[in-house]
Amino acid sequence: SQGGNSFHFYNKEMNIHGHDYLNVVSDLRKAIVEEQFVLMYQPKINIKQNRVTGAEALIRWEHPQKGLIFPDNFIPQAEKSGLIVEIGEWALEQACKQCKQWLNEGLGELTVAVNVSSKQLAKKDFYAKVKSTLSRHKLDGEYLELEMTESLLIDNSDELKLTLRNLHQLGVHFSIDDFGTGYSNLGYLKEFDIEYLKIDRSFISDLACNQKNKTLVKAIIQMAKGLELENVAEGVEDEQTVKILKDLNCEIGQGYYWSKPIKVDEFESFVTSFNAY
Ligand code: C2E
Ligand code: CA
Ligand code: CA
Ligand code: CA
Repeated sequence: SQGGNSFHFYNKEMNIHGHDYLNVVSDLRKAIVEEQFVLMYQPKINIKQNRVTGAEALIRWEHPQKGLIFPDNFIPQAEKSGLIVEIGEWALEQACKQCKQWLNEGLGELTVAVNVSSKQLAKKDFYAKVKSTLSRHKLDGEYLELEMTESLLIDNSDELKLTLRNLHQLGVHFSIDDFGTGYSNLGYLKEFDIEYLKIDRSFISDLACNQKNKTLVKAIIQMAKGLELENVAEGVEDEQTVKILKDLNCEIGQGYYWSKPIKVDEFESFVTSFNAY
């Protein structure tokens, strides 16, 4: 569109450098002040009982000019700039408030899962922030799940251990997100009080036709059971996959087969009709 003989290559990486990056960061600052973010909720299903057990809160940015922006297009910039700390606090606040509302409205004993970035966890006051958020909404820690990637736990410093132990004492649960995609030595699995392994979508999406992935998923589930962890399969898109996961004794599933991430009112209707049977 610049005309002439000039070529421009564009990729996602370029977004986190240079001019574009600076624009996004200044827009993000404004977005925080003006609360342009919204949380969508994707149901988590207990596969055997066929019931909704909770939701993962997934952030969206309602940009006044650019419209709805998905997290992959702004979370990396938010992390690089450190703004993820404030954005993450906002997400935690909203999710806890919402979860308490579900309990009050009698929607059920639903848990809410919030994604946590390494920048947030590295803050000295992370524990205090979570604790005060829970108490502000009179929400028992049992209802909150924090999702973090493996890379976050490779740093197994005493500080991190203490933070997680303290949170665990409030009843908060931890999930390893995107399990199987990191380069970790798995040693952290016994170092921390983790409840859930979320098997990455890349292993689940073609489970029905990919024998190698089936072997891997089976092994992950076995290992998790041995460590007394529960399994969550993400990216479940069809019935055949559900059947395989059920046979492999995978406890929880999440994916487009049941529902995409949806607005809170849609989520409430989903739970009401799904759990009615
Ligand atoms: P994630 O935590 O791995 O979230 C799962 C992503 O997979 C979501 O994308 C979800 O919409 C998508 N997904 C769920 N089921 C299916 C399926 O069956 N098939 C396919 N193809 N995709 C499925 P989304 O919402 O765009 O989020 C992308 C990532 O952004 C998340 O990956 C998470 O890492 C990050 N993110 C989202 N919200 C937050 C937040 O509040 N804080 C932080 N730090 N990161 C967030
Ligand atoms: Ca997640
Ligand atoms: Ca994930
Ligand atoms: Ca992911």
